[in-house]
Amino acid sequence: AAVPSHSHTIFDKIINKEIPSNVVYEDDEVLAFRDIDPQAPTHILIIPKVKDGLIGLSKAEERHCEILGRLLYTAKLVAKQEGLEQGFRIVINDGPNGGQSVYHLHIHLLGGRQMNWPPG
Ligand code: 5GP
Repeated sequence: AAVPSHSHTIFDKIINKEIPSNVVYEDDEVLAFRDIDPQAPTHILIIPKVKDGLIGLSKAEERHCEILGRLLYTAKLVAKQEGLEQGFRIVINDGPNGGQSVYHLHIHLLGGRQMNWPPG
């Protein structure tokens, strides 16, 4: 059977340590690592280790509620670890109009500079 194109992404290789990444936090469920193309002095991606169909937030189901909460809480822990006492921004891009490029749910944690609104 054909494998759906979104079933594997570069993040699987990062989770499996098949390609290197700069990991800042890891536990059984969650991995956080520095974005390869940072848009702020601190730019970290927070992802579930098991995708379970969660290619983006728009595909979330009731069963994902616990991991969604865990990802958001991890963002808070990492923000503290990174010394972002002056504030930070959380972003989830979804789908083409959202600017999503990797179809494995991820939270962007951005900090270390003034963020602007609207983001554009
Ligand atoms: P999206 O555009 O889907 O919201 O975010 C995907 C993010 O993944 C982008 O910010 C991009 O720079 C980052 N990214 C893509 N490939 C890699 C990689 O191989 N390593 C790391 N660390 N980040 C990556």
